[in-house]
Amino acid sequence: MNKRIARFLADNSPETPCLVVDLDVIAEAYDSLRRHLPLARVYYAVKANPAPAIIAMLEGKGSNFDVASRGEIELCLQSGVAPERLSFGNTIKKEKDIAFSYGAGLRLFALDSAHELDKLARSAPGSQVFCRILVDCQGAEWPLSRKFGCAPEMAVGLLRRARDLGLDPYGVSFHVGSQQTDLGQWDGAIGTAARMFSLLAEADIDLRMVNIGGGFPAHYTGEVPAIECYAQAVMAAVTRHFGNRLPEIIIEPGRSLVGDAGVIQSEVVLISKKGGEDDRRWVYLDVGKFNGLAETMDESIKYRIETPGREGVCGPVVLAGPTCDSADILYEKADYRLPLGLEVGDKIEILAAGAYTASYASVGFNGFAPIATYCI
Ligand SMILES: *Cc1c(COP(=O)(O)O)cnc(C)c1O
Repeated sequence: MNKRIARFLADNSPETPCLVVDLDVIAEAYDSLRRHLPLARVYYAVKANPAPAIIAMLEGKGSNFDVASRGEIELCLQSGVAPERLSFGNTIKKEKDIAFSYGAGLRLFALDSAHELDKLARSAPGSQVFCRILVDCQGAEWPLSRKFGCAPEMAVGLLRRARDLGLDPYGVSFHVGSQQTDLGQWDGAIGTAARMFSLLAEADIDLRMVNIGGGFPAHYTGEVPAIECYAQAVMAAVTRHFGNRLPEIIIEPGRSLVGDAGVIQSEVVLISKKGGEDDRRWVYLDVGKFNGLAETMDESIKYRIETPGREGVCGPVVLAGPTCDSADILYEKADYRLPLGLEVGDKIEILAAGAYTASYASVGFNGFAPIATYCI
C-alpha cells in the first residue's frame, strides 16, 4: 500500500467509497516510459482517468493526449493543453464533433472506414490521418478486438483515397488489447504496419508514423513482465520490420500510467451466508460494478485487495457491490479469500485502481453516487 495514500486516508477519513490517486506515481510511470521508449511520443489515453489534476500534471511534463470525444477535447483544452498535442483517436466520430475539433485546432485524426474518411475530408480538410488496423488481441485481459480497425488491405485503400481527398495519409495504428500480457503481440502488428508502408510507397505515399496504442499493464493479481520488457519487445519489433528507416512512433498508454497510482477505499456493508451447499461468505462492499468497478465484468480484471488491520486465517468469499442488480457481483469464480475475522464496517482497500474505475462509474444507478476521486 502506497504510503502517501495511506496517510491521506488516515488524516482525512473521506467518505467511502473513494479513489485516491497519487500524482507522483503517475509522474514516475510517465518518466519511466519516456526513459525506456525515448523514440516514442506519448499520448495519454484520457479515458483511463480524466481527472483534471492528472491532465494538468501530464500537460506540464510535456505529454500529448489521445482523446475520443468533444468532452475529452474540451477537458484537455481547459487544462491548457495546446490543440496540436491532441489526437482524435476514436474511429467513430460525429461529423459535427470533427468540425468542432478542427475549429479548435486539432489536425490529427484516426479512421478505419470509408464513411469516416469522407467526414474527415469534408470537416477536417488537409489534416493528418492514420488508419487503425484489426489485430486479434490474444493475451489481453481486456481485449479491444473486433469493434475497431479494418483489414490491412482495406486500410491501404483508405489511405490512398485519403490522399486523393486532400488529406495527409500519415500512418497506421493498432491496439493489441488492454492489459496485454503476451509481449509477442506487438511483433505481428508492427510487421503488418511495415507491410502497409511498403505497399503505399508503391503508390508514392510515404507513411511516416506507427501508433502502437496502449496495452502496457498495471499490477493486478497476476504476474506481468516489467515495463522495460514491453519497451524492448516494441523496439525489437520496430527495428526488425523497419530496419534503419525507423518511423515516428506514437504510444497511447492509459492503464500503465494511472492504474498503479490509485487505491479505492471501500467499506464492508454486509457479510452473510446463503445456507445452501455453497458455504462461502458473501461480502458486500459499498463499491461495485456501477460505481467504480466496471472492469470486474466477466471477472476480467482481478484487483489486489487488502483488509487493513485484519490479519490471520483467510477463507473463501464471494465479493459483491451494494446495488439491487444481481449483475453487481464482483468475484464469484475467481478464488478470493479474506480474513475470517472480517467484520461489517471494516475498510477494504482495492489496489491499482487508478485506471478505468472513476471514469466508468454510472451517474448514480440505484442512488449510489459515482465514486469520488482525490488526487494528491
Ligand atoms: C483505451 C485506448 C488506449 C489506452 O489503452 P491502455 O491499454 O489502457 O493503455 C489507447 N489508445 C486507444 C485508441 C484507446 O481507445
